Amino acid sequence: MRLENLPSEFQKALPILEKIKSAGYEAYFVGGSVRDALLDRPIHDVDIASSSYPQETKAIFDRTVDIGIEHGTVLVLDQGGEYEVTTFRTEDVYVDYRRPSSVNFVRSLEEDLKRRDFTVNAFALDENAQIIDKFNGLADLDKKLLRAVGKAEERFNEDALRIMRGLRFSASLDFDIEATTFKAMQTHAPLLEKISIERSFIEFDKLLTAPHWKKGLQAFKDSQAYLYLPDLENSQADWDEFCTSYEDGVTFSSSEQAWAALIIALKVKAVKPFLKKWKTSVQFQKTVESLVTIYRYRQDQEHGLRQLYQYGRDLIEVAEDLRQYQGQSVDFEKIAELDAALTIHDKHDIVVNGGMLMAELGLKPGPELGKILSQVEWAIVDGQLANEKEAIFDFIAKQK
Ligand code: ATP
Ligand code: MG
Repeated sequence: MRLENLPSEFQKALPILEKIKSAGYEAYFVGGSVRDALLDRPIHDVDIASSSYPQETKAIFDRTVDIGIEHGTVLVLDQGGEYEVTTFRTEDVYVDYRRPSSVNFVRSLEEDLKRRDFTVNAFALDENAQIIDKFNGLADLDKKLLRAVGKAEERFNEDALRIMRGLRFSASLDFDIEATTFKAMQTHAPLLEKISIERSFIEFDKLLTAPHWKKGLQAFKDSQAYLYLPDLENSQADWDEFCTSYEDGVTFSSSEQAWAALIIALKVKAVKPFLKKWKTSVQFQKTVESLVTIYRYRQDQEHGLRQLYQYGRDLIEVAEDLRQYQGQSVDFEKIAELDAALTIHDKHDIVVNGGMLMAELGLKPGPELGKILSQVEWAIVDGQLANEKEAIFDFIAKQK
């Protein structure tokens, strides 16, 4: 089959294929970009597979970067773009289910396509816009089906991350998982315990932020993959509720928002320890924890000036969006009004500081000073005290 209109991303990269070919090797576009072109979805990362070995690829182009030579990948800077050119290789051998223990470069495209995870990810596209489809991926694309390349049992046994990848592609592409493939996912789900948490996080995060996350989550639940991921073993009852508590068609706007929704649905009490087990960054933990706290507070009462001051308008709106996605009442106008009413947004906006209080009022350093400053801060936030030096000094005199 020929791709009717070769998307511009490929056209722009055509000279790279041609250069590799005129040096005597084979080269094709491969992977997600070919799948996305066939689905008429936006294309990112045009990846190239070639029969040239890394050193041979490097000899063809003026500018290259070694970004993964041991896996056969060379970054080629050409045609005003960056392209990963990866040598054809066979299935990696995984000793510990985590990392390939060796990589075998080969000269055959078919061998390379065989090691790919799903039939719809195993196309190659040549310079004449001809689609090479060795595993009936086109038929699966038509049926919107994810099917493992080769024997599903073997493929998930080789690399259990493919289970998570399958679930997330189901969520992003709105594809069902073919029955034999799904059964193999269920059987091999326990191997997920051997996969590095960081890699599982990336896939689960992509699932949660995908447009068809409910579909992905349903498959995730049915596969029982959750039993083998951090802190989800008691979550079985919560997955359906997670889905039904959000209106259909809702897509989370960020990873932070999606994980806050997950944590709310699972009724997780200790947010940071949970996210720490998923090996997320401290900043991510902090933001998600704030979102969950804001959301839970708002379920009991309306926000006031203190919430706006403490968390800031942006986070409060992201949490309010969650309520909106659930069909609950929301009040963005009130949030805007409260924000506008704040006379300070940060401690440092206060016109006095500890140093001034010591110098001008003779206060001593220590906890008492800290307490006074905090009384001043909250009185200003509450709108009871003007952020002016004289008013603040009066206020302090009255506290004594
Ligand atoms: P995305 O649109 O999210 O980038 P993608 O299909 O391009 O999706 P990548 O992770 O970028 O996914 O991988 C590129 C290609 O490499 C895949 O399409 C697939 O052919 C192959 N691949 C990636 N990871 C695996 C894996 N764990 N096992 C087998 N093949 C894989
Ligand atoms: Mg990709």
